[in-house]
Amino acid sequence: MTLTKRLSGEITDIRSIEFVCKSCGTSVSFNPAKWTAIVPSRCSNCPDAAKWTPTTDENIRQFAVLLTQLIKAEKDMPLEIRLDFELKEN
Ligand SMILES: [Zn+2]
Repeated sequence: MTLTKRLSGEITDIRSIEFVCKSCGTSVSFNPAKWTAIVPSRCSNCPDAAKWTPTTDENIRQFAVLLTQLIKAEKDMPLEIRLDFELKEN
């Protein structure tokens, strides 16, 4: 038998989108409902951090635009958009 813990929520439950540097752990977060889709292009703490590629930057920008639009439109939709997460124990 396996016990699985899950977390489920609506997209309007999302309080922040966080970008975390894999090298130093520095993070920048945005409220997705108010995010203007400006994406940090590199870590502000690592002086020689690699800059994201234009493709990565554009994909994240598109994600931000869609997420913001969905959050604003969700109250008028005939359905809910739910996100489901599996909680892992460390
Ligand atoms: Zn860093």
